[in-house]
Amino acid sequence: MPEPVKGFVHTFLPGRVVLGPGTLDRVAGEAALLDVRRVLLIATRSARDAADVVEIELTDRFAGRIDGVTRHVPTEVAERAREKARLVGADGLVAIGGGSAIGLAKAVALTTGSPIVAVPTTYAGSEMTPVWGETSADGKTTGSDPKVLPKSVVYDPVLTMRLPTKLTAASVANALAHCVEAVWTAKADPITETTAVEAARALAAGLRRVLEQPDLEARSDLMYGACLAGSAFASAGSDLHHKLCHHLGGTYNLPHAETHAVVLPQVARVKATNVPRAKARLEDALQTADLATGLYDLVADAGLPTSLRELGLTENQAREAGRIFDAEDILSRAWAGARPEGAAR
Ligand code: NAD
Repeated sequence: MPEPVKGFVHTFLPGRVVLGPGTLDRVAGEAALLDVRRVLLIATRSARDAADVVEIELTDRFAGRIDGVTRHVPTEVAERAREKARLVGADGLVAIGGGSAIGLAKAVALTTGSPIVAVPTTYAGSEMTPVWGETSADGKTTGSDPKVLPKSVVYDPVLTMRLPTKLTAASVANALAHCVEAVWTAKADPITETTAVEAARALAAGLRRVLEQPDLEARSDLMYGACLAGSAFASAGSDLHHKLCHHLGGTYNLPHAETHAVVLPQVARVKATNVPRAKARLEDALQTADLATGLYDLVADAGLPTSLRELGLTENQAREAGRIFDAEDILSRAWAGARPEGAAR
């Protein structure tokens, strides 16, 4: 018997999503719908060709372009982008790329209020959230502001056809972290749970398919999953898993997506037992008898690292971080890469 729904409060975030092969051709139209007159185009180097197409299609709306972005939005890069936006008189932004390109557009939107059309080329999910981040010598500052939430998101799976398999798998692990953690945060509700479960289904199915046969349908599933995962994360917020990954990444310079891939199964092993209904739904979505084991096997089968040791963390560093968050057992298992002892495959 399904559990009856208890009372809840859910805030839907505003935004328009366009998804489908060939939708890159609709980006200029989306900018027009937002009444943007002068677009600053920001593109990651891997999306240069896509940016060329958008530049042409923007015609008179094209005001200027930034090619190449830096990871984690360094303050000096953000400042240069703001200055460029001012110089070209931009009143809107189009960002093509992963979380780094979209992050740079958000840094500009934060101070100018200009609307963003986001065109993601990874599964990081930043396009669905009002969360921004900037890095200076003092570390990373993050915040949440409705101004930076993209007004329109265009998902064209064609742009991800050449995303290398390892990068694909790591980015999917990042998206899975968003949706899996979204079921046990303090702000989780039945709407975020349903969104998260469908996200996990699409991401797991898409990843398995991409590994076998990287076709457009598999890539479309992954973009759909990334969209839902980002949206669940935006509403439900984050909890222990994201705190651990943020700390490990910031303190020991571990790679962002791979750290998610390693830590998520170990956090799920502990946290998911508090939310039995969501755990069962996620197990169904991932077609596994045990959530933590299923997540572990999914990333291992994709060839991603399964231990923090492989990412270069020492056992002492894992202990140290574990103590800060009262998560010694989780991080000692993550360090060693222990397969969760749930049901067998
Ligand atoms: P990224 O944007 O840095 O891209 C990773 C690499 O992949 C880059 O070298 C890029 O050029 C390449 N690439 C991107 N798309 C490609 C494609 N389709 N084909 C070939 N190569 C491609 O990394 P990311 O994982 O997308 O984003 C990570 C960043 O986003 C981090 O800084 C993270 O903090 C941030 N993030 C923010 C949020 C948020 O809500 N604000 C959410 C998730 C991630």
